[in-house]
Amino acid sequence: MPLTAFSGSLFVVAAPSGAGKSTLVNALLAMEPAIKLSISTTTRPPRPGEVDGREYHFTSAADFTARADAGEFLEWAEVHGNYYGTSRVQVEKEMKAGTDILLEIDWQGARQVRKQFPAAAGIFILPPSIEALEQRLHKRGTDEPHIITRRLLAAGGEIAHAPEFEYAIINEEFNVALAELSAIVKATRARFAQQAARNADLFAQLGIHVQQAA
Ligand code: 5GP
Repeated sequence: MPLTAFSGSLFVVAAPSGAGKSTLVNALLAMEPAIKLSISTTTRPPRPGEVDGREYHFTSAADFTARADAGEFLEWAEVHGNYYGTSRVQVEKEMKAGTDILLEIDWQGARQVRKQFPAAAGIFILPPSIEALEQRLHKRGTDEPHIITRRLLAAGGEIAHAPEFEYAIINEEFNVALAELSAIVKATRARFAQQAARNADLFAQLGIHVQQAA
């Protein structure tokens, strides 16, 4: 079944590291418990405190590539030297059941999802300034200059793809950014095609005949 036939909405959120994406997404999920965060599979080793099946499904490179070859991933990409992928079956199952799904993935994955599911809402989180981004990257763990430089370069690479997204949120005031994210969620759910998919009986009763969304 094509993803377009599903009644759940799909949100794709990307950002350079240091833009505050995870904090924003976690606050959104607390406000909107009906949205489910997709748990990706990765070959990156778990960080201290990370639990298999909670932050990620951790696996080996051999297992990952075998599953990628078998078409198990809706999208997958190599990011900072590790593989990351989104389970196709999981996303399709949830969306078919009408659950809204949020993917926290990089621009390469977002591009693959967009191709298969143009109705996905693509959201890019931006830092309020390059200085703010630098400061946030400095605060993360080691302050070794070459590590900071590498993070900044990677952030620049991700930001270069921001124009491919439908929405841009500037994370200056946290509460403003969160309100914008929440507004995007509500507007996406109210799209005609989404409402029609979710309320098929009502639309039929009202005599509204909807063409399958593209
Ligand atoms: P981290 O290792 O810091 O958790 O994530 C590193 C990067 O990988 C982040 O930009 C994150 O959005 C991205 N990422 C996480 N899961 C996936 C996934 O399933 N697919 C893709 N394409 N990127 C992912």
